[in-house]
Amino acid sequence: MTCSIEVVAQKYRGLRCTSIADGLANLLKQAEANEISHLEFADQLVEHEQNQRNGKRIELNMRKAGFPVTKRLEEFDYRHQTTITKRQVNQLLDFRFLDERANLVFIGPPGVGKTHLAIGIGHQAIDAGYKVFFSTTISLVEMLELAQLKGELKQKIASLQKFDLLIIDELGYLPMNKQGVYNLFQMINAFYEYRSVIITTNKDFTNWGEFFHNDNVAVPIVDRIIHHSHIFMLGGESYRLKQKLEN
Ligand code: ADP
Ligand code: MG
Repeated sequence: MTCSIEVVAQKYRGLRCTSIADGLANLLKQAEANEISHLEFADQLVEHEQNQRNGKRIELNMRKAGFPVTKRLEEFDYRHQTTITKRQVNQLLDFRFLDERANLVFIGPPGVGKTHLAIGIGHQAIDAGYKVFFSTTISLVEMLELAQLKGELKQKIASLQKFDLLIIDELGYLPMNKQGVYNLFQMINAFYEYRSVIITTNKDFTNWGEFFHNDNVAVPIVDRIIHHSHIFMLGGESYRLKQKLEN
């Protein structure tokens, strides 16, 4: 029987282990150079495939998340933003809040880093293997409305529930109509104690009634969001303003 690298690689490819197939020649060379045992080599092959697959899955999840920009927590300057500490943010990064289906709410005026933190945390959650979806409130409401008009609101909400975490950016910036509020309520209701959300908003909860038009709907929405949530009130100067002034 001929046993060339190409023939063996082709067999791995047939079993959809493409990373082993592609890396086989190199892995063999390294194994021979390092004189590792057969068992170690067997382990290396499967680890190589697993690592490559995880990497691809994370890449795909990053694309699906739809972040408008890349923001990393490493770039966040806690000397400028002193109303939240690095320790507070780092405590979130074991992602227990996702496993507990808890929510995060960042409240504060424009430019204080709410969206930066939300995206940074979302990014790390993806690296940790979670699925994340980012949307501004406006696009989310539009998306739900489109689905509702097609009679597919339930299916749309179900498709959003496939994510472990939904980031809803800029809640409360623009008023929405009654149907929009109703659709959002349906979604928040479906997420309640089942999936987590991160919300950024410039309004504190006492003002949310006004945004949601009708307090009857606002109260249960707000209630559900804050029931299991970590709330961060951010203050300070706008970072945008600071950058503008420094230039
Ligand atoms: P918000 O959502 O609160 O309006 P952003 O998160 O969009 O504010 O921040 C505005 C800009 O300033 C973004 O480019 C963001 O990356 C940057 N920024 C804000 N706060 C900080 C900070 N503490 N360190 C580094 N960059 C910051
Ligand atoms: Mg923002």
